[in-house]
Amino acid sequence: MSAKAFLGKTVLVTGGGSGLGRAMALSFAEHGANVCVIGRRQESIDETVSMIQSLGKEGLALACDVRDPARVAEIVEATVKKFGGLDVLVNNAAGNFVAPSETLSPNGFKAVVDIVLNGTFYCSRAAFEHLKKSKGSIINIIATYAWSGEPGAVHSACAKAGVLAMTRTLASEWGTFGIRCNAIAPGPIHTEGTDKNLWSVAGVMEEVKSHIPLGRIGEPSDVAKAALWLASDEASWVSGAALPVDGAHLLAGGTLNFRKLYDKTVAGMGASQT
Ligand code: NAP
Repeated sequence: MSAKAFLGKTVLVTGGGSGLGRAMALSFAEHGANVCVIGRRQESIDETVSMIQSLGKEGLALACDVRDPARVAEIVEATVKKFGGLDVLVNNAAGNFVAPSETLSPNGFKAVVDIVLNGTFYCSRAAFEHLKKSKGSIINIIATYAWSGEPGAVHSACAKAGVLAMTRTLASEWGTFGIRCNAIAPGPIHTEGTDKNLWSVAGVMEEVKSHIPLGRIGEPSDVAKAALWLASDEASWVSGAALPVDGAHLLAGGTLNFRKLYDKTVAGMGASQT
């Protein structure tokens, strides 16, 4: 894709201070976009913006908890004020942890649904008027377990399935305003978080890999490339799609194979990943 594909465009990435969000933010900047990154930790989003600036591009880091609709509305307006519009919203922020459903607390369930499902709606709703003006697009980062379920993370599976339904609903409803809405469903990906918490647990990475037909764990750049394409003019007739980026992991049983890894994972990591 041309390095100028997003020149003059503005992209807002939630959860842009780490992992896939940071990779997507940098990739959009490399292709010409002004990028606003949001997250709760100012230090992480500032770091992403420094990386964007070292590419010679403009970035903006605004601390925001996506569970707060008033703050979400403020940061959307601040982004538009700084860059003059909004063309792409990437709903990527998420929280997750491993817990058997029978011991999951109601608060644990609610916290993840609030971030992933409600947060995605608040951001999309706040961005609507600007995306309508730019005929822009939304990309929702879901997970392949939106389809398969994820034994041990019912909270996240339900939230991601809700975001899949939101993606299809908004594609249809807001398509009439020229707004496209698509989802990317990553499979297991290397990030700082998963490398530290998940893939470092003895035997887990090899076991997961053995269920991925393409034979490797994904990289953040795999997801970033898909996001660039979906947001680009090359995909101007693509809306309501949910694209697995998972080396065919889902078709080979996906996260249903994770059930076997649970005890090992819970014992080894003390339970925290997205
Ligand atoms: P990550 O590094 O933990 O990124 C999650 C980001 O969301 C963090 O930067 C975090 O920043 C932000 N965030 C969390 N709660 C927030 C809140 N309430 N308000 C605003 N920002 C919040 O995880 P990742 O692996 O890159 O995951 C990115 C996306 O890909 C997620 O949607 C995840 O479900 C999806 N995914 C990842 C994988 C994988 O293997 N890595 C697989 C399937 C799907 P703060 O803590 O500073 O707020």
